[in-house]
Amino acid sequence: MTGPGPTGVTGGVTVIVIPQPTVNGPLHIGHLSGPYLAADVASRAARARGERVLTLAGVDVHPNYVLTKAENLDADVDELIATYKGQIRTAFERARIGWDVFLDPQEEDYRRAIAGMLGELVENGTVPVRPTTLHQCADCGRTLHHSYVVGKCPVCGTGANGTSCEGCGGFTSAQVLLDPSCARCGGPPRPMAVEVPVLRLEDYRDRLTTEWLRAEWPTRVRSVLQQYRTAPLPDVPLAYPTNWGIECDGPLAGMRVDFPTELGLSYLYGPARALRPEAATLAERIEAWAEVDGVWHFNGMDNTFYFAVLYPAILAAAGLPTARAAGAVVNELYLLEGQKFSTSRNHALWAHEFLAAEDPELVRLFLCWDRPDRYESDFTMASYQAFCEWARPLLDRGPLAAAPVTPPDLPARPLPPALAAAELERAERALQLTGFDAALAVRALLAALSTGTGADSVALAALTGRGSVIAGHPAESR
Ligand SMILES: [Zn+2]
Ligand SMILES: [Zn+2]
Repeated sequence: MTGPGPTGVTGGVTVIVIPQPTVNGPLHIGHLSGPYLAADVASRAARARGERVLTLAGVDVHPNYVLTKAENLDADVDELIATYKGQIRTAFERARIGWDVFLDPQEEDYRRAIAGMLGELVENGTVPVRPTTLHQCADCGRTLHHSYVVGKCPVCGTGANGTSCEGCGGFTSAQVLLDPSCARCGGPPRPMAVEVPVLRLEDYRDRLTTEWLRAEWPTRVRSVLQQYRTAPLPDVPLAYPTNWGIECDGPLAGMRVDFPTELGLSYLYGPARALRPEAATLAERIEAWAEVDGVWHFNGMDNTFYFAVLYPAILAAAGLPTARAAGAVVNELYLLEGQKFSTSRNHALWAHEFLAAEDPELVRLFLCWDRPDRYESDFTMASYQAFCEWARPLLDRGPLAAAPVTPPDLPARPLPPALAAAELERAERALQLTGFDAALAVRALLAALSTGTGADSVALAALTGRGSVIAGHPAESR
């Protein structure tokens, strides 16, 4: 289970998940400031400490938000996917976000693996096919789920689609939303009796309780889990008849894999593909996981139900014998000039465009410095530019040639060089997965750099993305 890895490092493998963005739009810098840069910085820092890390990234093609976007734009859905996928990959490259495994749902091997694993779970009786009531639109006939349904969260009353609640991070579906209706045509829901594979999360409560106790969860995640400690856990249909998603075969022919099921299974598939590429069955993939110590999810607060409840339950159902949740690093929303990012109002700074014109090292440092982890923070062009003016000379030349500008009655007080080592240590400790705090790390690093110390530090390399993208699995890196 432990022992020297291929590069001489020791210890079990830590899986770090960079969430797969849905290809219904490009990434904006709010996304980067949340999970995307943080996961890359944490991966680089862990690797530099000699830890065995496996970083998963990818794109998400199968939420029906993608088809809805194409219909709203009257565009060809395949062309739309290709365009957004290209823009997302360009953003990753320009932001220097690396990975060991890229999960691409348009690859045949991936699709076969996901449908195959779900089929095995049904055939071996772990996930039985049960009579279930879903809902369809009485007017247009679509199965109401994800972007196709809109209503109010039963817990906090926030408006939500049938995926999760942005207000409280809980689970939502057409079956539990208050006042649900068809998001496409406004039609009312009509019960639809089906026989579909259902994961009864209550059956996994003991295991989930172990996962919840063993992992490090931020306070806001814990408050969602606190609700689930007493409230019943939902039954989750893993596949059903609809018009978008990976097509099932065998006993599930005619259904499509629900996209959160797909994501949950992709977190089993991705590490197995890296650790044991020949693994082709559920059991072989579970065996590959013998080397994995834990999983860290980087994600937005509103996905708490998925990374802290559903995905660990899917791994347990798949046969992983012990809990592997290690923790989560979460973020709140990032604002742009005081308002929410909005694609429909074109109130956004697209990451691939912004990074084409800007120094990626300064963009990474600023978005980490301003990271919306403890509260919603606000990107302003004025603060970005002020940051660049201040930080660029520190990156370029070590100590400032001239004293910083200060009001006339205050003398310039740069950091005493005797404190530089403590600042650097603070920066590097803040980049550990436990207590990860990129905003603190940037502050401490810049203080050290102002004395001419730290130009060759792990903190500088991890935060700016200097050096090789990925050390662990060069065959998959770019
Ligand atoms: Zn409808
Ligand atoms: Zn809610």
